[in-house]
Amino acid sequence: MSDCIFCKIAAKEIPSQLVYEDERVIAINDIQPAAPVHILVIPKKHSANIMEIAADDQGIAGYVMEVIPQIAAQAGLAEEGFRVVVNTKEIGGQTVPHIHWHLLGGRNMKWPPG
Ligand code: 5GP
Ligand code: ZN
Repeated sequence: MSDCIFCKIAAKEIPSQLVYEDERVIAINDIQPAAPVHILVIPKKHSANIMEIAADDQGIAGYVMEVIPQIAAQAGLAEEGFRVVVNTKEIGGQTVPHIHWHLLGGRNMKWPPG
């Protein structure tokens, strides 16, 4: 998607603070962190949201869930814990229509979320 900000970040056309990369995903620090650790895990292949992902990038959701513990451990969150969030469409609070997992940590999380 030529006008997608996360496709541009994945292609290194827009700079970001990269914390992890492999052949299928990148992980970057969020530009407006909502917690002391706020990392976005982004598939390199474009898919708009979790409703589309199975058709667009088979197996990627399970793959991301296997990579997140490695990224969390690297960020020092393995012992104390963290939160993983996928906002979906407008009601779900999604503002960038390229699927991403938020990895949040370093403070106590509240429930229910806002
Ligand atoms: P959403 O609201 O779609 O669940 O999450 C989008 C996230 O992407 C937000 O937390 C926002 O701060 C972050 N974000 C938006 N644009 C950029 C950017 O250009 N660079 C980085 N690193 N994060 C971004
Ligand atoms: Zn994209």
